[in-house]
Amino acid sequence: MALDADIKTVLWTEADIATRVAELASQISDDFLGSSSSLVAVGVATGAFLFLADVVRRIKLPIEVDFIRAESYGAGTESSGALRISCDLKIDVAGKHVILVEDIVDTGNTLLCLIAHLESKGASSVSVCALLNKAARRKVELKLVGEGKFYCGFECPDYFVVGYGMDFAELYRNLPYVGVLKPEMYK
Ligand code: 5GP
Ligand code: MG
Ligand code: MG
Repeated sequence: MALDADIKTVLWTEADIATRVAELASQISDDFLGSSSSLVAVGVATGAFLFLADVVRRIKLPIEVDFIRAESYGAGTESSGALRISCDLKIDVAGKHVILVEDIVDTGNTLLCLIAHLESKGASSVSVCALLNKAARRKVELKLVGEGKFYCGFECPDYFVVGYGMDFAELYRNLPYVGVLKPEMYK
């Protein structure tokens, strides 16, 4: 029943992640210091919940926190171009600097949809803070809003990864590191 036994390779340890999260939070704190509009961190549920919790704890500025959820229409392992917001924000983001906190950017379809949604709600800028980026798999170009920036933890090789919030069939989110599952776990 041990969770670790299902993992073939660890790509980023708990310590690797903690170091990088502190660097990202410090960069965000520097970039938004002295900004006139207020700051909102929006976690993309569910995968970003641990990353969001860790990164906001290290941001040295007042910041509001909320979640948003987007889902692809239909089934499939890859997000399609057609997404819907299945759980919207509680916070009003009009006139605020939004940082979308995401576990991993793959095709880019999810963030494309969410960035457009936040822009339509009047955010004065939209930045992205993603733990992992699979740049080789990008299908759409991500244009940030206003002075928005792209903060990225690590470049991810083209493997399906789990842990630190990321799931396979809703499991493995509670692993404190990011790894690759043994092939037999997919059966
Ligand atoms: P995109 O819309 O950019 O194609 O995909 C974004 C979402 O797909 C991510 O937020 C994540 O939930 C899921 N995803 C993409 N690659 C992986 C992966 O390697 N592992 C896991 N667990 N989820 C992934
Ligand atoms: Mg996600
Ligand atoms: Mg998932």
